[in-house]
Amino acid sequence: MITLACDFGGRRIKLGVVRDRTLVAQTVLPARADLPLVERLPDVSRGLRELCASQELDPASAAGIGVSYPSVIDPRSGSPVDHFGKYGDVRWVDLQAWAQAEFGLPLALENDARAALIGEWQYGAGRGCDNVVIMTLGTGIGTAAVIEGRLLVGVHGQAGILGGHLTVMQQGRQCICGNCGCAEAEASTSVLDQLARQLPGFADSLLARYATISYEQVFRGENDRVSRQLAELSLRVWCTLAVNLIHAYDPEVLILGGGVMGSGEVIQPVIARYVEAHAHTPWGAVAVVASQLGDSAALLAAEWILSQRIQRGVRG
Ligand SMILES: [Zn+2]
Repeated sequence: MITLACDFGGRRIKLGVVRDRTLVAQTVLPARADLPLVERLPDVSRGLRELCASQELDPASAAGIGVSYPSVIDPRSGSPVDHFGKYGDVRWVDLQAWAQAEFGLPLALENDARAALIGEWQYGAGRGCDNVVIMTLGTGIGTAAVIEGRLLVGVHGQAGILGGHLTVMQQGRQCICGNCGCAEAEASTSVLDQLARQLPGFADSLLARYATISYEQVFRGENDRVSRQLAELSLRVWCTLAVNLIHAYDPEVLILGGGVMGSGEVIQPVIARYVEAHAHTPWGAVAVVASQLGDSAALLAAEWILSQRIQRGVRG
């Protein structure tokens, strides 16, 4: 049995076909998240049909569609509660009805960081472990937790996933969530440009040559003072957040994922050392590891997300 998978990211929409815990085909569309979602759905349909055709599979034979989405998902309705600046109409689009009309299939949604954790927990870096937390570093910061073998969801669907909005700087920057000094507002790709331009000496920095600054450039710039400073500031934020997450959720494994982990060879050892020195875990040591599945984690999670929702009998 196959499952269709769809991962709506800030910059890309990833589509996949999963069969027996394996991603048998995948493709990528530009996100165009500034457009209404209804305008992107025809491309998503076409993409899924083409993927199935490439494997000589009939989409109608799938168990359903598992969707990873960058929002809090209401556990009762199975729908996103807000758009957070992406696909402004998402709250008014009935994705379940779309999947039925388009493919005759059920559809289940899950928060993107939670979907990535499900993928890693079931098939990747957290496999075989009942207590796992993920921290995805990218445009924003996503988190999610599995405690004693159960995915943490919460009554409103937001338990475990708001780690990027834990306060790491009391007098910190205003965040889009309404709070100040959130980890995401202090160190993520969405604020990197502003952070860089505020630093003294930016105009003379190597980073001033780029129209848009990425963490890849920052971590490559060991000989550039502003890059070094930005890297240190960001690492300090992520280290603080890692310890907060460990103190909150009691994991045995902390998985680091997201696009920023393209520089994981620098980031992972720094966070691992900090956690070893600062986390209160008298029972032993938390393993701080890089994601194994990367971009594929949320797609691979589609099978699990769909089967769990169907078992629970929740619409969506
Ligand atoms: Zn926030």
